[in-house]
Amino acid sequence: MIPYGRQSLDQADIDAVVAVLQSDWLTQGPTIERFEQAMAARCEAGHGVAVCNATAALHIACLAAGLGPGDRLWTTPNTFLASANCGRYCGAEVDFVDIDPHTWNMDARALAHKLEAAERTGSLPKVVVAVAFSGQSCDMRTMAQLAQRYGFVLIEDASHAVGASYAGRPVGCGEFAAMTVFSFHPVKIITSAEGGMVLTNSPQLADHLRRLRSHGMTRDPAHMTEPSHGPWYYQQTELGFNYRITDLQAALGLSQLDKLDAFIARRRHLAARYERLLADLPLTLPQAQEQAQSAWHLYVVRLQPERIRRSHREVFEALREAGVGVNLHYIPVHLQPYYRDQGFAAGDFPEAERYYAEAISLPLFPALGDEQQTYVVEQLRQLIQEPAQP
Ligand SMILES: *Cc1c(COP(=O)(O)O)cnc(C)c1O
Repeated sequence: MIPYGRQSLDQADIDAVVAVLQSDWLTQGPTIERFEQAMAARCEAGHGVAVCNATAALHIACLAAGLGPGDRLWTTPNTFLASANCGRYCGAEVDFVDIDPHTWNMDARALAHKLEAAERTGSLPKVVVAVAFSGQSCDMRTMAQLAQRYGFVLIEDASHAVGASYAGRPVGCGEFAAMTVFSFHPVKIITSAEGGMVLTNSPQLADHLRRLRSHGMTRDPAHMTEPSHGPWYYQQTELGFNYRITDLQAALGLSQLDKLDAFIARRRHLAARYERLLADLPLTLPQAQEQAQSAWHLYVVRLQPERIRRSHREVFEALREAGVGVNLHYIPVHLQPYYRDQGFAAGDFPEAERYYAEAISLPLFPALGDEQQTYVVEQLRQLIQEPAQP
């Protein structure tokens, strides 16, 4: 089976991890800071705070933004569960903004309308999580203006978008979002096995994120309520977590970062090739968001149901049977039983639901060969061009 995504590791990655195993520090050592600084430098951000995964990163980013019970977090329904769950971890109410029918990202106009209505009813969100779906940022310029106007904290969930750029600068630079979150899960652009990071330009937010990562503890006298008792002394000033990443993982992430440009170049090549090879088929192909250069985490196509005899499910299952490991990103989050229990129902976000009925993620990862890709395209072509068997 050709998977939809997979990591690319080389000997340098293996050597980097082994070197940490032979060192004095398996966790809380110097490699974590080197990884944070390298990511921050690469993304033109002031500070990086590495944690055990992007879900934890989203959680502490929301806490650092001040999100708590009685507050609201808005995100897109077309995302992984974590972009919404982070709000629930903080005790906040979660709501969604429907997607743009072309980019499949949160629709900035829909966000503006919903904010207008929420202002009238006194139910504005404290945090908006803008997900860079498939690797391309949302209309961040407009969303940042809305953040100013309505006073919410804009967090970019750029789990798909390590190495992407927007308005000529790297995603994560903090020009538009107060905090940007990356994931280093193996299916994402670069991996640390498990791992995540928050980037920010605010030293206060970075400090707070570091405390939240480690039990709410501080050894910095400036954050203490009384003078230090001695060299052993630390204080817990709020409730935090153990969300630390290990030095083993940071070493892998750091080594992978050396290959980021090559990974992105290969992903762009494959995406451009899909676009060429699929152009004549009854499919809707990904459309570029203005100003955004995608990292191409995913290559999603939408079947045009009125022009295809087979159902979405039939095409999906037949591709899997032909050894093409297609996937579906995403089941609209508001339709999950957990969120239905919070009051959501089918029909609430029709663009995301229509998208879900048509979308298929095709294999896309750096080691995918051109011939394998051609095979994927030919299988898809046969399925959607030929009439179904009676
Ligand atoms: C993968 C992903 C996450 C969660 O990442 P983990 O590192 O697995 O916790 C969050 N948001 C989006 C959009 C993702 O794709």
